[in-house]
Amino acid sequence: MKTPIIVNLAGIHKEPDPEQLKENAIQEHAKHEAEMHEHYISVRREQLSMYDNDVEKKNRRAEQLCRYCYYTGKYAMAGQAFTDALCVDCGKQMTFATTSTDWLCPDCAKKRNLCKHCGAEMD
Ligand SMILES: [Zn+2]
Ligand SMILES: [Zn+2]
Repeated sequence: MKTPIIVNLAGIHKEPDPEQLKENAIQEHAKHEAEMHEHYISVRREQLSMYDNDVEKKNRRAEQLCRYCYYTGKYAMAGQAFTDALCVDCGKQMTFATTSTDWLCPDCAKKRNLCKHCGAEMD
């Protein structure tokens, strides 16, 4: 029978203190989390300035999305499961690669000049 290889550092290093490990983990997490918040806020600031200036207006309109859904990431950042939904106007079935479904099919959204995702006015 093969002997499993056991890596035992006990003889080389002192056994780590579980309390100290927990303390380190909490502090590392706190630091990491705070850094992530800074990151999220800077991303959000960028989004808000894009929203204010409608910097990708042509592309946004081509995708039939209002400024809110296009720039705040509401549209892109939804969940990852496939979901079916019916267009609230014509009842056509639509399938989405996210859990965040559209309100209207593109045709109805264009016809009404509304955001296909949330149903808001386009501009
Ligand atoms: Zn429709
Ligand atoms: Zn919208």
